[in-house]
Amino acid sequence: MELTRRKFIKKSFIFGGALFFGNDSLFALNKKREPGHPSYAKLEAQGKLAQRVEKAYSIFEHCELCPRMCGANRQTGEQGFCRASAKLMVYAANPHFGEEISLVGKRGSGTVFFSNCNLRCVFCQNWPISIQGYGKAVHDAYLADMMIHLQNLGCHNINLVTPTHVMPNILNATRIAFKKGLHLPLVYNTSGYERLEILKLLDGIVDIYLPDMKYMDSDKASKYLSVAPDYPAKAQKAVMEMHRQVGEHRIDNQGIAVHGLMIRHLVMPNNEAGTEKFIRWVAENLPRSTYVNIMHQYYPEHKALEYPEIDRRISVQEFLEAMLWADEYGLTNLDQQSVQIRKIYSKQTLEQPS
Ligand code: SF4
Repeated sequence: MELTRRKFIKKSFIFGGALFFGNDSLFALNKKREPGHPSYAKLEAQGKLAQRVEKAYSIFEHCELCPRMCGANRQTGEQGFCRASAKLMVYAANPHFGEEISLVGKRGSGTVFFSNCNLRCVFCQNWPISIQGYGKAVHDAYLADMMIHLQNLGCHNINLVTPTHVMPNILNATRIAFKKGLHLPLVYNTSGYERLEILKLLDGIVDIYLPDMKYMDSDKASKYLSVAPDYPAKAQKAVMEMHRQVGEHRIDNQGIAVHGLMIRHLVMPNNEAGTEKFIRWVAENLPRSTYVNIMHQYYPEHKALEYPEIDRRISVQEFLEAMLWADEYGLTNLDQQSVQIRKIYSKQTLEQPS
């Protein structure tokens, strides 16, 4: 049965909060894959990874890691909009089986959930972690050990969830972990609210970009994303840059993602996410074979019940309409789970008595 991120997070709470270092025995019999060749290995060999870490860390003194451009000196503990200092906070690190099939494979995506977030959506499904900041303060070296641990469990990648505000810590941890044998690709699992200048620091380090494209209209973004009217413009530029860096989604001969761009778009009630505009934008700005996951699992969480337009799940018809737009605009590489859900929903619709 599909384990969605929401269920995964809730399960994490049920079983006692932070899931640092899960149950090895579940995975002990898994065969290890041959070491891959992640992008950051080349950068380290060229002597450039340390420079990137240094440059990234210097941004903490006047934080402009995201389009909020708060200017907070996070090194001294000052907090910006995301409410994070320079001290890394992690909620959980475990194999996760609710992500896209090419990330999950047989042994899971090695997911690290970071506390706090630079977007703070009113409907956030991870709100205890991203908005309330649940988690544990750890050193970068400990994050490096988590990465190695996830690799030892057999995970196919290191999946960094909500990484934007802790990018310098991630780069530092990656370098430390590389010296200890890390060879998995990094998945940058972001809200899409990114600055081009910051993404350029990740060029040659991140192998797989997994951005959301949440909204296409500035007024909706302002309303639901804690006042981020520039979200659509920033996310569109960011996704173009990600594509420039890593190109299209590529899998190995076992179907595991090794490189490329994978875009997520969550369909919302009453077309609040601007799904048709999103699909048209992809078709007009990226190859139509770009990997796109049109997600059906919207559920009103956090403060969503205070907004009547988004206080319910989406209907079957709303999801089918979204998939139809993808056909009409000629997208050819839709996430397989969304394609299966479409089949199920279409069958249900046909079977309903008229
Ligand atoms: S990462 Fe946080 S402190 Fe830095 S600019 Fe963004 S919201 Fe502000």
